[in-house]
Amino acid sequence: IYILGIESSCDDTSAAVLCNAQILSNVVANQEIHTEYGGVVPELASRAHQQNIVPVVHQALEKAGIKKEQLHAIAFTRGPGLMGSLLVGTSFAKSLAYGLDIPLIDINHMQAHILAHFIDEEHQQKPSFPFLAMTISGGHTQIVKVNSYFDMEVLGETIDDAVGEAYDKSGKVLGLGYPAGPEIDRRAQLGNPKAFKFTKPKVDGLKFSFSGLKTAILYFVQREVKANPNFIEENLNDICASIQYTIIGILMDKLKIAVKQTGIKQIAIGGGVSANSGIRKALKDAEQKFGWTSYIPKFEYTTDNAAMIGIVGYLKYLEKDFSDFDVMATARLKL
Ligand code: ATP
Ligand code: FE
Repeated sequence: IYILGIESSCDDTSAAVLCNAQILSNVVANQEIHTEYGGVVPELASRAHQQNIVPVVHQALEKAGIKKEQLHAIAFTRGPGLMGSLLVGTSFAKSLAYGLDIPLIDINHMQAHILAHFIDEEHQQKPSFPFLAMTISGGHTQIVKVNSYFDMEVLGETIDDAVGEAYDKSGKVLGLGYPAGPEIDRRAQLGNPKAFKFTKPKVDGLKFSFSGLKTAILYFVQREVKANPNFIEENLNDICASIQYTIIGILMDKLKIAVKQTGIKQIAIGGGVSANSGIRKALKDAEQKFGWTSYIPKFEYTTDNAAMIGIVGYLKYLEKDFSDFDVMATARLKL
């Protein structure tokens, strides 16, 4: 079965071709345009998707060595995401599926971040049900109990900012480019994680909160810079390491609560922040320390990509779970 996956929820235009659960191609066009604004500008994102989508899909088919007439279905991101961005992928997927007279399959982006673990990859174990998934991305921070492919229960999520936002906004305070997550991660590995101390937010149970931390970091940096204008340059790696240490501590604390609450020790992570070296290492340590089994996605399936949309498309195809052509892009789609 050949599936074309299309992802356009935020600022990456991506297309992937799958043969069953295997990835034949996964092309991602990043939108450079947002860097100079320090964040994603929705109107520009939508316009860039319009420019990118045809060449990206074309390239994905070419790399896979597949003609569009060979496709069995088209899977696309319905939501959640930016409406103007989602509309581009949705309209394109509908027209192509209609033209080829093949099924259209709508996909929930957050479900895809989780089900990316079911892509066939060498040396990559797949989780068995039930497992806990922690989705940590630019727009979400959730702990989800995954009972089966399409039976997922959100146990807890953020009440304000997402963890990726905490990274990006802290980076902005430090004068780093957007998105700052990868750069903070890189510098964190060169610095002292205990150089500066930030208090963890006090939120009950499996709820997350990151807006207080963001403000604490802003005030801390402003205060220090007042005393020493070169404070940031002189301490950048240590500041990054300390921020990362605090954030990973928060994530691990919540996972421990979730494991205690459910008795499930299989942990999968997904979303852009699952590329982070700190969380990857903390989970590996937890295997030794607490007997957890952790599932960490391949790097290219962490931030937004169409391979993860394609795998959910394949799983839905097997269930004949197809969409009507009047399906609408949905900015606030729930899991
Ligand atoms: P959502 O999936 O919630 O709709 P999104 O699709 O915008 O949001 P992703 O593309 O999944 O988010 O993730 C992007 C986020 O991941 C950004 O905030 C980025 O800074 C962060 N990120 C990427 N790599 C790393 C890293 N190595 N360390 C920390 N954060 C990272
Ligand atoms: Fe995402």
